[in-house]
Amino acid sequence: MDILWSPWRYAYIKSNETDAAANGGCIFCDILNNSASDEENFILHRAEFNFVILNIYPYISGHLMVVPDAHLADLDCAAKESTDELMDLTKRCQTVLREVYQPHGFNIGMNLGKAAGAGVAEHYHQHILPRWIGDANFMTVIGETRTIPEDLRTTYEKLKNKFS
Ligand SMILES: [Zn+2]
Repeated sequence: MDILWSPWRYAYIKSNETDAAANGGCIFCDILNNSASDEENFILHRAEFNFVILNIYPYISGHLMVVPDAHLADLDCAAKESTDELMDLTKRCQTVLREVYQPHGFNIGMNLGKAAGAGVAEHYHQHILPRWIGDANFMTVIGETRTIPEDLRTTYEKLKNKFS
């Protein structure tokens, strides 16, 4: 999705690649362990076993992820209480996104393993994407403006208090 190009985002990805390389290669563990605030890391919510975070390079505005604290590649390696909580948080994300963005639908799911398209294959995570009818056009409209970097912060501000 080159439509969403932004220098700001590129800088973020590059810095995380560097940090992650120094940290065993896991961006999610790096986010959990770094000294930046939740706001700087775009973490919307921390539960007992999982956290909710904005996708920094979203396919679409409002692209959320639920990520376990534990560094695990496979869903079926995780404890039941962790995956139960992950699904509860997924439902909460859907409710919040519906309230804030009124999407027409959702994509919710996981890519487990590189072969399945996982961007961070070693640390599983659930994607929650709001979708709109014709949102390829929607993305073009918003993507060609300079609002994408701002929009991530705006998205955070809109959603943050819905999780508190
Ligand atoms: Zn990890």
